[in-house]
Amino acid sequence: KRRDPDQPEFHQAVEEVLRSLWPFLEANPHYLEAGIIERIVEPERAILFRVPWQDDQGRTRVNRGFRIQMSSAIGPYKGGLRFHPSVNLGVLKFLAFEQVFKNSLTTLPMGGGKGGSDFDPKGKSNAEVMRFCQSFMTELYRHIGADCDVPAGDIGVGAREIGYMYGQYKRLANNFTSVFTGKGISYGGSLIRPEATGYGCVYFAEEMLKDRRKGGIDGKRVAISGSGNVAQYAARKVMDMGGIVVSLSDSEGTLFAETGLTDEQWDYLMDLKNVRRGRIREMTEHFGLQFLEGQRPWTLACDIALPCATQNELDANDARTLLKNGCFCVAEGANMPSTLDAVDLFIDAGILYAPGKASNAGGVATSGLEMSQNAMRLSWTAGEVDERLHAIMQSIHHACVSYGREENGFVNYVKGANIAGFVKVADAMLAQGIV
Ligand code: NDP
Repeated sequence: KRRDPDQPEFHQAVEEVLRSLWPFLEANPHYLEAGIIERIVEPERAILFRVPWQDDQGRTRVNRGFRIQMSSAIGPYKGGLRFHPSVNLGVLKFLAFEQVFKNSLTTLPMGGGKGGSDFDPKGKSNAEVMRFCQSFMTELYRHIGADCDVPAGDIGVGAREIGYMYGQYKRLANNFTSVFTGKGISYGGSLIRPEATGYGCVYFAEEMLKDRRKGGIDGKRVAISGSGNVAQYAARKVMDMGGIVVSLSDSEGTLFAETGLTDEQWDYLMDLKNVRRGRIREMTEHFGLQFLEGQRPWTLACDIALPCATQNELDANDARTLLKNGCFCVAEGANMPSTLDAVDLFIDAGILYAPGKASNAGGVATSGLEMSQNAMRLSWTAGEVDERLHAIMQSIHHACVSYGREENGFVNYVKGANIAGFVKVADAMLAQGIV
């Protein structure tokens, strides 16, 4: 905190990990003696660069670009790019730090990284987004590579942005390597990658319910926040499994679907968000649904909550309300959506609570599968990828239970995910010496 006083999200992420890891570290002091903690909180490399571009009026605009190469202990740096006005060094360091543990949990050989820009794609024309992406990649391309650092999407970076960036990468590097995941299917993408984070989150929730003998998703009321990539496919999977999706949201407010989102409404959502790039309010108007202006979904009665929007979107008050209304399972689709106080309340109440690094790892896991398919120059079917994704989510759940089960049978998924993710990375660091 003394070294980087203006990075509260990064401190929060480190605190969450170290709090749950500490008893394990005391019991295994060789990790502390080798300085693993001091090393793991410091990025191997942080790149900060200027991104100049021209808007449609011919004005020169300048944004800031970043890539945090956090850890390459177990594989090439891997992690998404975020384009959002709130992006800064501290936010990306928190995301890169979380990514190291998450990638380790996937069972695949991927290190951790994250990057992005304070550029806001909202309200920009396609041509502006393209010029920005090309300028961003003109600098980033020299720092990435199929065996070095493989970015992907995140908030504000979807299929359109990845296409533009990959196109520019290819032009500069003159090769067609697997330097990005989340690519379009026609140029090396993997089936099920768009679905993977949302689907994976619901698969993970299902495993938690099974472990607690709470039945399946079928018939459960599920509150979802966000309406972007993760929220869309979390909603789809919940509906496919017979659950009732009672909400979606964006930064303006919450859509409340008392009797559950319908297939027709979901199709409308996909067109609204991914083609027309509209707001969730429009959807409530179109279908006569209730719009809770300026509110988050956590006041709604639900059995399961899936926060799928952004960091710190669920605080202690929200956690109390959810618990009071009978919510017994929270699986995070977003990264660090719950504040530390909210997490404490969930764990103290003994409900099922999964931190994002475990329950949203399906996206990066499927990115790992995209890299494998690219390396082999072949494509698996949607069924094959989905099956592997499902198996990976089950194995992450199993790892969390192995390290997180307490004497009374309660599974502390935070502890389980942190220890399981840490051990693999720390052992690799020990083997590779002080680097
Ligand atoms: P998208 O950009 O597709 O969607 C983001 C959604 O969250 C939008 O509905 C957006 O609303 C809302 N949102 C973003 N910032 C804020 C904010 N400050 N306040 C309120 N709402 C906000 O992103 P994704 O769905 O890809 O990502 C969502 C979360 O999931 C992020 O935390 C991301 O890191 C995490 N994640 C994503 C993965 C992926 O594969 N895409 C993988 C693992 C984690 P609005 O349009 O109003 O901004």
